[in-house]
Amino acid sequence: MSAYRDEDPRIHDIKTRIRIMFQDITTLLLNPKAFKDTIDLFVERYKGKNISVVAGIEARGFIFGPPIALAIGAKFVPLRKPRKLPGEVISEKYILEYGRDCLEMHVGAVKSGERALVVDDLIATGGTLCAAMNLLERAGAEVVECACVIELPDLKGRERLNGKPFQATMP
Ligand code: 5GP
Repeated sequence: MSAYRDEDPRIHDIKTRIRIMFQDITTLLLNPKAFKDTIDLFVERYKGKNISVVAGIEARGFIFGPPIALAIGAKFVPLRKPRKLPGEVISEKYILEYGRDCLEMHVGAVKSGERALVVDDLIATGGTLCAAMNLLERAGAEVVECACVIELPDLKGRERLNGKPFQATMP
């Protein structure tokens, strides 16, 4: 049993003063129209742009990336956290707001000269998208644009993208 009593008005007050900062896209997925509209907005922007690769970042880039890839006739390439991909990989380490992380891509998934779109749910500091772009460029691909559903503009993540075009549905 909890040591604290829910009816204690101080507990309620403490709860209301904790800011919930995580942008949760799972509620968007519960609404088929809003989810489809999100995908359609990306597809309208990228269809006919000769993009052959959509690279999605683990984990929420795996939700938005594949339907975009199918709709624009591109392949989908997962960029995964370390030691998840079974084949030979190239790795890119990066700095997060709190700590470090790494993304990996299968060798041979992308060919030199291919035009790629990078997809994730959200840009914060831009470190994750930057690592994703580096992976694709090391494989010889041209990153056409990075696309997210949500941008946290206060963190100025797009400034870390080395001038690459960036598009967010919700600035
Ligand atoms: P960045 O590297 O731009 O600082 O962080 C972006 C990465 O962290 C993305 O892969 C994104 O999924 C995750 N992320 C950071 N903060 C949030 C958040 O508030 N909501 C969601 N959905 N993802 C977040």
